[in-house]
Amino acid sequence: MLSDVHDHLYAVEDPDAVVAESKEQGVGLIITNAENYETALRCVELAEKHDIVRAAVGIHPEYALQVPESEIDQVERLLSNERVVAVGEIGLDYKFATTPEEKDRQKDFFQKQIGLAREYGLPVEVHSRRAHRPVIEILAEYDVPANLHWFSGPLKDVIRGVELGFYFSFGPAVLHYESYRAVVDVVPLDRILLETDMPVRFGGKEARPWWVRDVAQFIADVKKTSVDNVLQRTWQNARRLFRV
Ligand SMILES: [Zn+2]
Repeated sequence: MLSDVHDHLYAVEDPDAVVAESKEQGVGLIITNAENYETALRCVELAEKHDIVRAAVGIHPEYALQVPESEIDQVERLLSNERVVAVGEIGLDYKFATTPEEKDRQKDFFQKQIGLAREYGLPVEVHSRRAHRPVIEILAEYDVPANLHWFSGPLKDVIRGVELGFYFSFGPAVLHYESYRAVVDVVPLDRILLETDMPVRFGGKEARPWWVRDVAQFIADVKKTSVDNVLQRTWQNARRLFRV
């Protein structure tokens, strides 16, 4: 079975059609990640409507700079929904946060939401841009299962993340940047997940969940194993981490 553990299904033009084609292509799990309360509601709605879809709800670091902190309380009310399998996407993004105040605000949102994940017994889906070290340091303080999505390194931080027991989801970016070969190489197969971050565009086209097959092929090459083995292991990993 194919699994796409990090995307934004609500952001495509016709989510229902994408789910239907995903099923035809052998996708058995899509985890659609929210960016704020409004999109969290849409994620839950899609997860309730489609058997292969589950929701991650949370406030993205970009929105942490835009919405009131009370939105975290609104998101919390969704965490007991049985279709919600993670808190996400949360994290730090220093492309958007440039001043110490903005960085502190993102950290505050990140830590509060990690706290909620612990309270509700959920894993976190983590976004990290230009902030890999602080993201790892904050996660290390909490005992919470985590998936680091689209994490590009440096390798030292990847290795530290592996030591801390985190998972890493890889998407179509691995097919475009040679540097991912080294990252995939140091993450053991039992910690690797597949994602697309749909609707992010690669090669001028919006990603689709079944593109994870090509990602799995790349991982199979790096790990010198079969694509079927990678698909089977990543499927098991997703079921273990998200308890689906
Ligand atoms: Zn995302």
